[in-house]
Amino acid sequence: MFEKILIANRGEIALRVIRACREMGIKSVAVHSTADSDAMHVRMADESVCIGPNSSAQSYLSIPAIVSACEISGAEAIHPGYGFLSENASFVQVLEDHGITFIGPTAEHIRVMGDKITAKETAKALGIPVVPGSEGGVPDMAAALKVGESFGYPVLVKATAGGGGRGMKLARNAAELETAFRTARSEAKAAFGNDEVYIEKYLEKPRHIEIQVFGDGKGNAVYLGERDCSLQRRHQKVFEEAPGPVITPEQRARIGKICADAVGSINYIGAGTIEFLFEDGEFYFIEMNTRLQVEHPVTEAIFGVDLVREQIRVAAGLPMSFTQDELEINGHAIEVRINAEKIPEFAPRPGKVKMFHAPGGLGVRMDSALYGGYSIPPYYDSLIGKLIVHGRDRPEALARLRRALGELIIDGIETTVPLFDALLDEPDIQTGNYNIHWLEKWLAATYG
Ligand code: ADP
Repeated sequence: MFEKILIANRGEIALRVIRACREMGIKSVAVHSTADSDAMHVRMADESVCIGPNSSAQSYLSIPAIVSACEISGAEAIHPGYGFLSENASFVQVLEDHGITFIGPTAEHIRVMGDKITAKETAKALGIPVVPGSEGGVPDMAAALKVGESFGYPVLVKATAGGGGRGMKLARNAAELETAFRTARSEAKAAFGNDEVYIEKYLEKPRHIEIQVFGDGKGNAVYLGERDCSLQRRHQKVFEEAPGPVITPEQRARIGKICADAVGSINYIGAGTIEFLFEDGEFYFIEMNTRLQVEHPVTEAIFGVDLVREQIRVAAGLPMSFTQDELEINGHAIEVRINAEKIPEFAPRPGKVKMFHAPGGLGVRMDSALYGGYSIPPYYDSLIGKLIVHGRDRPEALARLRRALGELIIDGIETTVPLFDALLDEPDIQTGNYNIHWLEKWLAATYG
């Protein structure tokens, strides 16, 4: 096992990894920008190294700075968290060249899943159901119109190099497709320097269902059920739950086995998430994330496992500590993402936190790097905490969420907490009756 791990991240996810290290008797090294000298992850780690100025590009995204910090501190492995360098294949390559272990998949697996067309082709070849659409990139207008005709409208034109929901255009008929194809290409060229696009059937009212997978790099892999992350604003998840309120045990077992077999067959190592749109009982692959997800705690809650500990174990060459048969769902868990943002615009509101009080009690987990007197720097993501509740069933989890939100105090800044208080009053949220468009529609109807 490793003696020392460097965490190439900040905020709540850096704390999450430090906590796992401490329980495993591993020393942790925090890295930080100058803006983060007083951050909680720096205080909680065994050691810390300043890696650069405020801007992420010169600190948390600086491969040379992070590799030097690793060499100076003598850490043997790096945990990337999520975001930043977690899905950067060249970073993983550089670490390999320096003899540093990356706690995550191989550069090759990251690369394959990072390109949307290759990812989709790979998924299809591995037996994973995909959204019907063009075979790879669509070269010209004639080919685009042919795809529209054969799959039927509406269709979505997507940029191969797109990400974060950008570079997508909807077309409801052939005339719209002509415009969509042209604008999608020129926008993709401008935004990503690559004008390749592909076309998919547009699903009208899907849910976002993602399967957590885990592999040991030696051909063994398991699935840990699904998460329903349909409540999104501008493709950003805000509320996630597990198990999915509408997924049956048969559907879970079927898609779970397909995913586990797929990642096992490529000797995938570590945590991964296979994302699907789910409509009328069918799953359609959209992408695979080759890292730990923000919303991993809901899966940890219902399966009683520590996914970060497991990532560290397999990276060190140890076997997974559970088999598929041992993984049983226990109750229901919900996570809400607390951002330093003013609703309804979701405008960032960094600033000084005068007082912070985390909720507690049975089935409540607060993952946050906040403390009273902390000044949230304006340079990074606005996620400041995740509140995760676990109950015997969905109604108990919802009641617990309401209770825990009532105990939470974050004074001095505006946050997205009032959004969740309001959502809990909605009958559709109470019954789990929502799809990927529900939140945007509700926001428009509620706040105008
Ligand atoms: P990105 O990598 O930019 O996030 P995705 O392919 O994951 O792109 O798609 C982002 C979001 O767009 C999905 O979560 C879903 O809300 C919507 N979407 C993507 N493909 C389709 C589709 N074929 N039909 C309907 N909605 C889609």
